[in-house]
This record gives sequence, C-alpha cells and structure tokens, in this order.
Amino acid sequence: MAPRKLAAGNWKMNGDLASLSEIDQLCKAHPDPGCDMLICPPALLIHPMAASAQAHALTVGGQDCHAKESGAHTGDISAVQLRDAGAEYVILGHSERRADHGETNADVAAKAAAAHQAGLIAIICVGETEAQRDAGETLSVIGEQIAGSLPERSDSANTVIAYEPVWAIGTGRTPTNEQIAEVHGFIRGQLDGRTGDAVNLRLLYGGSVKPANAAEIFAIPNVDGALVGGASLKAADFGGIVAAL
Ligand code: PGA
Repeated sequence: MAPRKLAAGNWKMNGDLASLSEIDQLCKAHPDPGCDMLICPPALLIHPMAASAQAHALTVGGQDCHAKESGAHTGDISAVQLRDAGAEYVILGHSERRADHGETNADVAAKAAAAHQAGLIAIICVGETEAQRDAGETLSVIGEQIAGSLPERSDSANTVIAYEPVWAIGTGRTPTNEQIAEVHGFIRGQLDGRTGDAVNLRLLYGGSVKPANAAEIFAIPNVDGALVGGASLKAADFGGIVAAL
C-alpha cells in the first residue's frame, strides 16, 4: 500500500502565540484530511500548538534538535525535549541550517539518530544550490547528502526525506515536473540499498509550493507530499495544499 501522504508546514522563525488562531482555523476546516497534516513552529510554540492540536488531525514538530539528550549546550534543544513538549516530527538538515549553522551531513545524521532514539520521525532535507544545478552536479550532491545524512536503521516509520532545491525556497521558482520526477526517482533508487522498505519511505518536495501549484506537483511520481514554508503560515493557504493531496 502506498504511504499516506504528508503535508508538512515549516513556520521557520515566524509566528507568535496569536498565530495559534491559524491552527484552530486549519483544524476546523480540515477535520478529516486525506493526508497527514503537520506544522513545525518555532520551538516556543510547540507545546501550546500540540495542546490545541490534540483533539484534531494535526501533528506538531520541531525545526531542529541537538544530537545529545541533555547537557551543557546553551540555547539548544534535544529530541527528547521536543518529544516531551508534544512534537512527533523534527525537520533536520534544512538548507537554512546547513548554511546559517554550518551543519554537515554527519551532523544531520547524528541529530536524526537522536530523533529516532527519542521516538521522533526525522524529516531529512536535501537539495542542490543553483550553482550546483547549473554545473550538472544535482544528482551527485543529492546522492552524497542521502548517503551521509541518514543514520543506520532509517526506515519508512522513522524517516521522511524532503527534496528542497535551495534556489526554489522562498523564491516563487520551482523546478519543472521532469526535474522533480528525476530527483525523486533518483532518491528512491538510492534508498533501495539502504532501507528494506524504500518504496514506502515518504519523499516530500519543498520549495515555493502553494495552493496553485500543489495538485500538479503531487501528481508527479514519487512525490508523497510537501514541505511548505511561506504558504504554511496562513490556514487558508496551507489548507489549500492539504486539500490537493
Ligand atoms: P517555501 O519554503 O515554501 O517558502 O519556499 C520551503 C522550505 O524552506 O521548507
């Protein structure tokens, strides 16, 4: 059976307590969505959002975690703490974290192992820059990221992969359907040797997904949902994407 699709929202460093009203609207408008529905707000909002999502078909996640369970790491949050606050997922290795915080594939793999250990589903992000695409390096870059960022024992129950071309994030530009199909098919093939259940591991596309292009993107083979930034902030926009899945 094909995996249940996933609409994942990444609020990044946006939103405050008042924004939780968007979540109420989203849940009321989609009481029984045809896909899994996830919002990853800033860490401070995880607990209140999880509390208000509890009675609804919404799950909540973090945007990063530390590789250690606890200790002297000022400003960091562990996977265990995310789980304690009500998170079920955590986004790892987003290109903004790779760029802003110098996260390497090995860092991402260590964080994902910690997430798995804590019972969280890791959404591991990969994607090429525009210069890498122009140089014809897309598949080799993605292959390296997949090989280096997935910890052992990654499977369809504990891992989701998000393909997010860096040049498509927040720009309004998206790859062609053929380009998305090529990369998603390639990732599926890379997983084959690594996880026993590669066909069921969900592969999300991310980068300028909005209600207007969601249905077309979701029809591409090996696209099992989306990781959505800007369009996840408003209930109506994210709801439009949920409805397209
Ligand atoms: P975007 O961001 O939808 O605003 O392009 C996607 C992401 O960074 O996850």
